[in-house]
Amino acid sequence: MKRQFDDNLYQFDKPQASYWEATAPPATFDARSLTQDEGCDVAIIGGGYTGLSAALHLARDYHVDIRVLEAGHIGWGASGRNGGFCCTGGTGVHDKELVRLVGLEAVREYYQAQVAAVELVRQLGIDEQIDYQAQGDAELVVAHTARAFAGLREDYELKTRHLGLPAELMSAGECRERYYDCSENFGALSAGPAFGLHPLRYCRGLATAASRHGARLHAHSQVIEWSKTADGRHRLVTQSGTLTARRVIFSSNGFIQEDLNAEFFGRVIPVVSAIIATRPLTGDELAAQNWRTSNPAINSRRILNYFRLMPDRRFLFGGRGAVRGSASDEQHTYRQLESRFRSIWPAWKEVEFEFRWQGLICMTATLCPTIGQSETDKNVFFGFGYHGNGVNTATWTGQQLAIWIGTGREPRGLPAIVRGLSRRYPLPGLRQSYLRFGIFLARQMDRIG
Ligand SMILES: Cc1cc2nc3c(=O)[nH]c(=O)nc-3n(C[C@H](O)[C@H](O)[C@H](O)COP(=O)(O)OP(=O)(O)OC[C@H]3O[C@@H](n4cnc5c(N)ncnc54)[C@H](O)[C@@H]3O)c2cc1C
Repeated sequence: MKRQFDDNLYQFDKPQASYWEATAPPATFDARSLTQDEGCDVAIIGGGYTGLSAALHLARDYHVDIRVLEAGHIGWGASGRNGGFCCTGGTGVHDKELVRLVGLEAVREYYQAQVAAVELVRQLGIDEQIDYQAQGDAELVVAHTARAFAGLREDYELKTRHLGLPAELMSAGECRERYYDCSENFGALSAGPAFGLHPLRYCRGLATAASRHGARLHAHSQVIEWSKTADGRHRLVTQSGTLTARRVIFSSNGFIQEDLNAEFFGRVIPVVSAIIATRPLTGDELAAQNWRTSNPAINSRRILNYFRLMPDRRFLFGGRGAVRGSASDEQHTYRQLESRFRSIWPAWKEVEFEFRWQGLICMTATLCPTIGQSETDKNVFFGFGYHGNGVNTATWTGQQLAIWIGTGREPRGLPAIVRGLSRRYPLPGLRQSYLRFGIFLARQMDRIG
């Protein structure tokens, strides 16, 4: 099996020791492994938000016979272990740079879809009665240098004047008074639409809904071989069974197994992201940093940190992990995150951490999500590459793929910049080196400001 990272990242039989795994109610849906040779209309590879949202929409809105094959438990991948930020984003470049690359109109079209994607998560919570513990009403971006604040001012102009997004710019003093105090606050941008949620509760809620509407889910059913039958159907082999399907959705994002289908080889660079979470903070501790928000927040670094206070007052703090994700890399990453956390909030330097975990996000060569129908086989569909912003984007991608399959036509709302398979990286074997170089450059730029 061809994977780009250390085996430590592909232990499908083990849940991550995450705060989410410790606090989500147990799964109530049926997801027994595939143990026989069976058939269906649409088979989905990957039981995260993309696959589950596609399954839910196909089963509920188009009454299609669906199966989801997942290598671990349902939500084992990034969907069960992310930061729970439901906000706009999803590309690997700054918006200003995106405008330069593809033009303002294309970026505006993309952001309309992003807003719809946040709204879709909100609506699914209501329609499918998913209690994902929503928190907050905007995302805060806090400038870590004066120069970064000048950049936020430009972001504010772009968002409010050209993209029609709600945003508010504030000075360091206002940010300190209204949100929190820290050692690196040079002003902030508050932008919407956005909120925080419990990602595994959300993922299990999608699975419960998909299952209730008739989709069949198979956990611990890793696809190890993908071939075609003589009559053109797709044959997906797992360790203990085989699924034959007319159509396939490939939705394994950063945990991609590249040798399953040659068409998808070399298209992505997965990147390790890691999270640590504290014990519950006391009221006095929160007051010591004037913490008074439940909004999800990030800092303005290129190698950024994301953080939020959760409903039980534990503090979640995330950032980029080490390149290969091995067990020793992992420990190194957690030490670095803890040290960064303590330098940003000095009053919390004695606070203990109780949870640590990591996972893979997914970049593409076009630096945009990639969604579509295979050009070589019209019965293969795909959606991945959300650049660390998949809560809304993956959910929406699953819905778009369901509309495509259900109606037989490309959805009208699919923005040009996400349409079709992203190009292959040149010399794909060098992708880890590209990543190392990119991280090195970003770090240098963060040092300058
Ligand atoms: C630490 C971390 C923090 C993040 N924070 C945020 C955040 O705050 N907000 C946000 O919007 N996004 C965040 N993301 C990104 C977001 O979680 C992902 O973009 C999103 O979950 C992708 O969903 P998915 O269904 O496409 O992929 P995944 O949830 O990764 O699911 C893919 C699944 O495919 C399965 N699979 C792989 N190969 C096979 C195979 N051969 N057979 C069967 N199954 C297979 C895997 O086991 C995996 O479960 C974060 C990601 C990480 C790792």
